[in-house]
Amino acid sequence: MSSRTISTEAVPSSVLHASLSIDPPNIVRAQGHYLHTSTGTAIYDASNGAAVSCIGHNHPRVKLAMQQQLDAVEYCFAPHFTTPAYEKLAKFLVDSTNGKMQKVFVTGSGSEAIEATIKMARQYYVEKGELQRTKFIARDRSYHGNTFGALDVSGHKARRTIYEPMLGGNTSHISPCYPYRDLRWGETTPQYVERLAQELEDEFQRVGPETVCGVVFETMAGLTLGAVASVPGYLKKMKEVCERHGALFILDEVFAGMGRTGSLHAWEQEDVIPDLQTVAKGLGAGYVPIGALMVGKKVVDVLDRGTKAFVHFQTYHGHPLACAAAYEVQQVIQDQGLVENCKRMGEYLGEALRARLGAHPNVGDIRGRGLAWAIELVKDRNTKEPFPVKQKVAPTIHAAGLQKFEIAVLPGGGVVDGVNGDLVVLAPAYDVNREEVDLIVHRAAKSIEHVLGPTT
Ligand code: PLP
Repeated sequence: MSSRTISTEAVPSSVLHASLSIDPPNIVRAQGHYLHTSTGTAIYDASNGAAVSCIGHNHPRVKLAMQQQLDAVEYCFAPHFTTPAYEKLAKFLVDSTNGKMQKVFVTGSGSEAIEATIKMARQYYVEKGELQRTKFIARDRSYHGNTFGALDVSGHKARRTIYEPMLGGNTSHISPCYPYRDLRWGETTPQYVERLAQELEDEFQRVGPETVCGVVFETMAGLTLGAVASVPGYLKKMKEVCERHGALFILDEVFAGMGRTGSLHAWEQEDVIPDLQTVAKGLGAGYVPIGALMVGKKVVDVLDRGTKAFVHFQTYHGHPLACAAAYEVQQVIQDQGLVENCKRMGEYLGEALRARLGAHPNVGDIRGRGLAWAIELVKDRNTKEPFPVKQKVAPTIHAAGLQKFEIAVLPGGGVVDGVNGDLVVLAPAYDVNREEVDLIVHRAAKSIEHVLGPTT
């Protein structure tokens, strides 16, 4: 590879950044769990970007695998050819589900994996002759991606609003599983599950059960609701409703999959098997843009008996370099027992957060599973009243972390007044150790206290 020197001088940016007026920190080197800025600061990457860099930065094994793939085949057109890299990654993914998923379609991102999923679901029903099935049911405050199809499925109001008139409108949204805000006084978990299942049943009836292609849920609600694991029995019950109406049960594991929650697939902890599944962030760990649709037997069988083809394709799907990098990332995760570490360190992170921040007057909830954790911040922890959106609590904490405490956390929530609190999301790398967890908790707490005052 050539060794181009990266300029560390501040120059006016030509990039269309999230803000047109403020340039973000300029990262000139990334090593292990640290991001190094052009001004010489080493920032601890406590959220892995958006829960992506799960084996840390600059991993020699992944770089070598990528170099070897570049030497072998850098690109070929997946609809016409295959490569050992694509075959190996697909087989690894199928095997990782013990064959519950039977085919894999590799995309360039999580959103693209959702687009492929929507199309696969539609094609499944077309091949079955159920042409009237065009709709999906998803959840409020969910996030399934920013492309138009994925955004149509998403229930994230702030990301949808200005595009609303242009979205397909094929999806309706029901309540998420969000016990911190939605569990009623005196209600047991089974009663809560029953209520949510009834809401799904009612929604099927409202839109016409015979018109629904599928139900799309995040197995663990990730970045927008803030690391909310499903309550026991919830997903199983929801799948039962779905099956009663012949609709597909689709789990979006772009965030929760590939180890993040303490099992390779988050659904393994839920006693359900999806018909279609997506993965992305932990698949390539940030070394390459990648996502994947995984297709279960029920759907594969129908295609097999029908056209024997998937209508959808993209120029870069199944990209050999992406597949080779992702395959090596997965080997590193297996070889180093990182899914187990995720579970172990996740439990420690949860305990440490509760010990350090549990008594803070603005901490409403601390929740998570594996190495996905969120702190929900509220104006009043008794009433759970959120801060007004315009106060920008989470973004200010994020900025304080970067500028004063050398930590990158992920800000979230607080996008629509009164809906939920501000979120600080932590998603460290799977190979994090106890000392680093202590450092993360210390720096995250300092960032929160800098903005909201001390823990009393
Ligand atoms: N689905 C979920 C659950 C996600 O968390 C995300 C991204 O955060 C997406 C889909 C979209 O993935 P991408 O940003 O790679 O397009």
